[in-house]
Amino acid sequence: MKTTLMIYDGPAPADSDAPRTGGVPLAPAGFDWPLCGCGGPLQFFAHLPVEDGVLSVFLCQNDPGACEFWDASSSANRVFLFPREELRPVAVPEAGLALLPATSAIRTHVVTLDPEEADDDEDIELGAYDVARQGWNREPAERFGKQREVLGSLGGSPSYLEDDRLPACPSCTGTMEFAAHLEEGIARETAMNLGGQLGYVFVCRTCRKGSFLTD
Ligand SMILES: [Zn+2]
Ligand SMILES: [Zn+2]
Repeated sequence: MKTTLMIYDGPAPADSDAPRTGGVPLAPAGFDWPLCGCGGPLQFFAHLPVEDGVLSVFLCQNDPGACEFWDASSSANRVFLFPREELRPVAVPEAGLALLPATSAIRTHVVTLDPEEADDDEDIELGAYDVARQGWNREPAERFGKQREVLGSLGGSPSYLEDDRLPACPSCTGTMEFAAHLEEGIARETAMNLGGQLGYVFVCRTCRKGSFLTD
């Protein structure tokens, strides 16, 4: 079983088309910055190129704790799947918390797990992300004690998410495909605030709609 970890890779240009957290979103022409039910702009969290486009993740941080960014059906989060072509930097709202303080590059690192590390297949399926993330500390070529460098993972299965929390597509009401885990990141100054929780990104590739929730 393979897990594609996303690893913090230092500062990045704010308009980079490579995987990153923070910076300015790249979107098609005519894109309007998403707003939360609280009236403020959502904060741009992550630009994640995937097989058939770019996932663009936004969460409300104007009043953390009040705006329910942990709920897939809330207006306090939004995930877009943009086509890869003709993306351009979006004009940033002047009021509200629209941007993270820093732009961080992401590199991917594939971890292959030994099935003997889990009791049965279901365990390794559910826990693959946790095992891979914890294993990052033990990578011989990497620095030790750097678990917070793990910014999440791409693809695979959602780690320990109850079935009744799996989101339905807001357009076709079909089952959504798991796309990514997101972690808060390495430092308080650069971090995405997820309330200390693990973030989950889902996508309906047919409708090109995404969803976000936390555990
Ligand atoms: Zn809000
Ligand atoms: Zn759909």
